[in-house]
Amino acid sequence: MHEFTPEVEALAAEVLAYSLDRLKNDPPLDGPRTAEDLFSEVGNTITARGLGGHEALEVFTSVLAKACISTDHPRNLAFIPSAPSEYANLFDLVVGASALYGGSWQEGAGAVFAENQALRWISDLAQLPEESGGVFVQGGTIGNLSALVVARAQGRKKHPGASRWVIACSEEAHSSIVSAANVMDVDVLKVPVAANGKLMGEAVAHAIDHLHATTTHRVFAVVATAGTTNLGIIDDLQGIGSAAHERGIWFHVDGAYGLAALCAPSVRSHFDGVEAADSLIVDPHKWLFAPYDACALIYREPELARQVHSQHASYLDTLKDGAWSPSDYAIQLTRRTRGLPFWFSLAAYGTDAYTEAMEQSLTVAHQAAALVKAHPDLDLVCEPELSIVAFTRKGWSASDYQSWSDKLLSDQIGFIPPSSHKGQAILRFAIVNPWTKISDIKLILSTL
Ligand SMILES: *Cc1c(COP(=O)(O)O)cnc(C)c1O
Repeated sequence: MHEFTPEVEALAAEVLAYSLDRLKNDPPLDGPRTAEDLFSEVGNTITARGLGGHEALEVFTSVLAKACISTDHPRNLAFIPSAPSEYANLFDLVVGASALYGGSWQEGAGAVFAENQALRWISDLAQLPEESGGVFVQGGTIGNLSALVVARAQGRKKHPGASRWVIACSEEAHSSIVSAANVMDVDVLKVPVAANGKLMGEAVAHAIDHLHATTTHRVFAVVATAGTTNLGIIDDLQGIGSAAHERGIWFHVDGAYGLAALCAPSVRSHFDGVEAADSLIVDPHKWLFAPYDACALIYREPELARQVHSQHASYLDTLKDGAWSPSDYAIQLTRRTRGLPFWFSLAAYGTDAYTEAMEQSLTVAHQAAALVKAHPDLDLVCEPELSIVAFTRKGWSASDYQSWSDKLLSDQIGFIPPSSHKGQAILRFAIVNPWTKISDIKLILSTL
């Protein structure tokens, strides 16, 4: 180790050739195998003398990689898949080769500067003030948790007598909000959504006022979802922001999936009200064409976050020089400069390319919805507000959906696991991949 031998050079060529092939050609969909099955093929790969680079790469490319579903396959429409751009993926190789430390300005100034410009693009799209800023964290779950911890600190200042702290959100909010509440040992007030699936400002106001009038519990944050994960529905951001701020409560917008579409003029107005957010998140690894894993976490007043998240230790005090250190803004210390592949892609292609790719996903989603409506055996759950198309199949039980989905994967046509809505099984296409064409949708629909 730590010696650049001819073997290392040869392996570098192999690694680059594999990576280029992966970028250039349609990936196979592939699929999971059991641990027993994998063990029977590769055995224990950790040995005292090592397999050698060539052999270890071979184990990965010929066996292990094939037991992973390609999230960027054009007919992988499961959960929220991903579609990193060529430049973003290429630059991830550079980040990996560069031993960059992204925790502090002192060590990572150039990288942090670039990440901050990418964050600025998002802040500007959301029309947040000039002073806003934040950090790329691992994912939306950590982003939401980090923001909510800052929100609670503000609540504690305002209501020292609160007997219990509460997050208000809709019943359609992402599971990471409940997870954050568990970590923080706070409660969740789930406010019902309107008939159109949206959380509305009035309902939030009513639920908070009722709780505050009848208990000494205090709501410290209202979370609006800008693009629910299941159906892509955007809450009433304007109304919810007002309801929160009229009551002196932090307004957090969880846009892990949906806020990417801030750069799409055709749907920009659906996000009106986001400019009032005290904090927001969006995952570039979902619909902004960045590789895993990167969540942009942005605060209206980053100083509030710094006061809460900055770590203090004798060996760290040398870093408290007033410079912008990303670790100060979330639950983390050491960090990969995980926003850099996104920055590079944005800088290299330009923001117009993002707008174009986003509009393309939206168009395919609308065309897909039209095909579903025209299909005699399918019913659309709701018109897609963003790029998620949800529908049911007439006469199918939950097990019919599951066996269709299993067969679709085993036939290597697509990956579309069933979901549910209001207790009923549904299918959903999450379209975030510019390689997904309407012909892919037609191919899938022909199996229904
Ligand atoms: C995906 C998602 C999250 C969680 O993000 P991770 O990056 O998977 O941790 C949170 N909120 C919403 C709305 C999401 O779609």
